[in-house]
Amino acid sequence: MKPFLPNYPVVHIKPEKEKIFFQRHPWIFSGALRNIPKSATEGTPVFIADAKGTIRGIGFLSSGSIAVRILSWTTEKLPVEYFIDQKIKAAIHTREQLGFFSSAETDCFRLIFGEGDGLPGLVVDYYAGYCIVQCHHLGMYHARESIYGALQRHLGSRLTAIYDKSADALHDATLENQWAVGEPTKQIIAREYGHKFLIDFQQGQKTGFFIDQRENRKLLSRLCTGKSVLNTFSYTGGFSIYAIATGAREVVSLDISQRAIDLLEKNLEINQLDLSKHTSLATDAFDYLTHLERTFDIIVLDPPAFAKSHRVTHNAVIGYKRLNALAMSKLAPGGLLMTYSCSQNISEELFLNTVTSAAMDTGIDFQILHRLHQPADHPVSIYHPEGRYLKGLVLKKST
Ligand code: SAH
Repeated sequence: MKPFLPNYPVVHIKPEKEKIFFQRHPWIFSGALRNIPKSATEGTPVFIADAKGTIRGIGFLSSGSIAVRILSWTTEKLPVEYFIDQKIKAAIHTREQLGFFSSAETDCFRLIFGEGDGLPGLVVDYYAGYCIVQCHHLGMYHARESIYGALQRHLGSRLTAIYDKSADALHDATLENQWAVGEPTKQIIAREYGHKFLIDFQQGQKTGFFIDQRENRKLLSRLCTGKSVLNTFSYTGGFSIYAIATGAREVVSLDISQRAIDLLEKNLEINQLDLSKHTSLATDAFDYLTHLERTFDIIVLDPPAFAKSHRVTHNAVIGYKRLNALAMSKLAPGGLLMTYSCSQNISEELFLNTVTSAAMDTGIDFQILHRLHQPADHPVSIYHPEGRYLKGLVLKKST
């Protein structure tokens, strides 16, 4: 690729804010900018200059309190396409290094994880050769052709097709999700630790599957032989499939979405599992737990993000506390609670405090057996701790 010299608008950092060049956080807040060029709008590529006018970075302009999303801290005046290509190449290298392309039992993983891979606003999940692309930011969306090109160049024969699901991510009704590269398909089946999953890439949530729980599902499979398991917020049955396949005595899966439950049942079928051990319910987890008149040996709580912004953190904490206290009260003595939060705005410490406060309400002893996180295909930039969004605990109730 031959880079041309771009003529992007330049934003200048206020002299007293120049520590940002040292801290390397990928978001620049509006208060740090001396000017926003008139020609620049949401998603415009911009160069970032210090007070002397020297170029120190490149990014995309944003309209919220985060004014610029950094693509690279660089002094090179090269186009965004160049950095996108380099970073996609590096992201693929990381997954190669982690062994994802050579695994005999897993062929789905996150290929690109936004800021964690130096590509803010871009998520790409890989499902058995199919890449589902989600641009969460207009800057990335405008560069989508370069993204497709870089994926083709660096994946080579490991790429079958690309489906762009950015319309959903950008919440823009004027855009359309569509096939961008390769032959369209109606059905994608991916494998995770040998278990098959139908990927609901067109109508499902996110890119169609919650890849981030892979290692936590694997952990459940080591704990559940002979046990009764309640999998709340089951979606298409990730935890349930592992539990039945590895010998749980009984599994109840529940999700508020009938579509998710229908897919869960198809997933049970394609894995040829013993259906007599499984019950699925399309219902509200809070209602179900409130009225439950029995106990389970293991309860999985994997709710959607309750805190989508800082403004609602307080309500989210109340929600997590109520949910965890309910589940704790329905655990058998000696039972295990696997509880998660995927809210970026709830820190690990706040989540632990919230779950601790739920335990205090029950007046029962609990031990922490595991503190869990997102897996390595969801890497975190050392300069962007906000990228650590998934946290989990495995607690044991006293016998
Ligand atoms: N554990 C899943 C992912 C869970 S995603 C996996 O491993 O794949 C969160 C799910 O919670 C979504 O499927 C959503 O439909 C469901 N959900 C949201 N609110 C709910 C509620 N009040 N009760 C039950 N399910 C709910």
